[in-house]
Amino acid sequence: MPKTSVFLIGAGPGDKDLITVKGLNILSQADVILYDHLISHDLLNHAKAEAEKISVGKFAAKHTLPQEGINALIIEKAKEGKLVVRLKGGDCYLFGRGGEEAEACYEAGVAFEVVPGITSALAAPCYAGIPPTHRDCTSNIAVVTGHRKKGDTRPIDIPKAGTVVFLMSVGNIHNIISSLLEAGYPPETKIAAVEHGTWYDQRVIKGTLDNFLTVIKDNPLRTPAIFIVGKVVELQDKLDWFSKKPRVLLLGNYSQRYAHLGTIVHRPIIECVEAGDTEKHSETLQRCRHYDWIVFTSGNGIKYFFKKLFEQGLDVRSFAKTRFGVIGKASGERLAEYGIRADLCAKVESSKGLLEAFAGIDIAGKSFLLPQAEVSSDELPNGLSLRGAAVDKLGVYKTVEREIDDVDLDYIDQILFTSGSTVKAFANKFNTVPAHIQALCLGEPTQAFAKQYGINAKIIEKAAN
Ligand code: SAH
Repeated sequence: MPKTSVFLIGAGPGDKDLITVKGLNILSQADVILYDHLISHDLLNHAKAEAEKISVGKFAAKHTLPQEGINALIIEKAKEGKLVVRLKGGDCYLFGRGGEEAEACYEAGVAFEVVPGITSALAAPCYAGIPPTHRDCTSNIAVVTGHRKKGDTRPIDIPKAGTVVFLMSVGNIHNIISSLLEAGYPPETKIAAVEHGTWYDQRVIKGTLDNFLTVIKDNPLRTPAIFIVGKVVELQDKLDWFSKKPRVLLLGNYSQRYAHLGTIVHRPIIECVEAGDTEKHSETLQRCRHYDWIVFTSGNGIKYFFKKLFEQGLDVRSFAKTRFGVIGKASGERLAEYGIRADLCAKVESSKGLLEAFAGIDIAGKSFLLPQAEVSSDELPNGLSLRGAAVDKLGVYKTVEREIDDVDLDYIDQILFTSGSTVKAFANKFNTVPAHIQALCLGEPTQAFAKQYGINAKIIEKAAN
């Protein structure tokens, strides 16, 4: 059997977690990824660093590359001996022209496999709270495209089904509604549009065949969207679940820690990068075995401290006599990856928590090294110094701001600031938090920092690690 060189993979409808385990596994091994516009771009973070990522984005009528060009590129890359993934929105074979891509492979003698995906035809109704079938409403469903091949002027097929789901139909909704009425669907038949299904900015617009065009006149539709026609639309009043979840813009990292808060819209606004090496770094690192305590206030502090330490030709054998403190369980686990077990771990993940953890320990006359961000709060060093410790700070990383232009704040309910630097970066870009959004933060220092920018942030419980 020839080795598979092309995988057509369904990426799901938009929510990055709605890809299959199989699809994600193969994606992470790909040499070349040809991806559609509609996929979640977060999925590309799973690719190998050296993978070639090519947008062959299809968006409404604007194809970056015509289908023949996409087919040719798949074959060309496969013949170079690369593992090619064609990552497609929703499911590969439902209106995605995946069949044509597979045929092209067949004709070129290139071995291919297909990994199905969750189609928007089912996922968008699901996230909208509309089960496409229900025993009280219908036992069948038809999925129809409202868009025909160029030059094909035949009217849209209108099947007789209890539920009809239309894809690729926004530009053609007038014709679709008149065709439905002509085909005998009563004017009071329910219809719903689900825009941006499964995305944080999903919107559901409902009406009946006789008033829907008026309804959308006041609410112009955004693409991509599907339409659901049938009695099942009535169930939305009871079964809507997704729109009840607050949409939380997370500006920091570790999105999985905050899933319990709602739908996480993850846009890291700052990035941690290593601080440039200075004489102070080499001088401090060369003598760091003499510190009584090394205390880390973040995972990044650990990562960049050890990077710099190793670059000095040193390793953990330096620390036989040194004791280590960490700000929380996650940092403790990070430290353990370097073979060092923390002697002290703050119960509450903050500078204050660390000071409390040191309360029962005699630190007078002891020397401390705090590897941390170049700009960081003085609460911990001051608190330790007040108790008679000799404290040195070492800036091992710094934060740089990133663009987050693609987030629509109109669809955000809460913003979670995970540190002072996320507040500063957000304020630099947006000035302040719009009135409809509730600001949240993780602790008092960030809350006080936000206040300086006129932002009233509510402290939330620290998330589980
Ligand atoms: N293969 C895809 C469909 C490709 S055709 C799938 O299985 O989902 C593109 C059409 O899919 C769009 O015009 C729109 O009707 C629909 N679509 C794709 N993603 C969508 C989403 N997140 N929400 C609503 N409709 C979507």
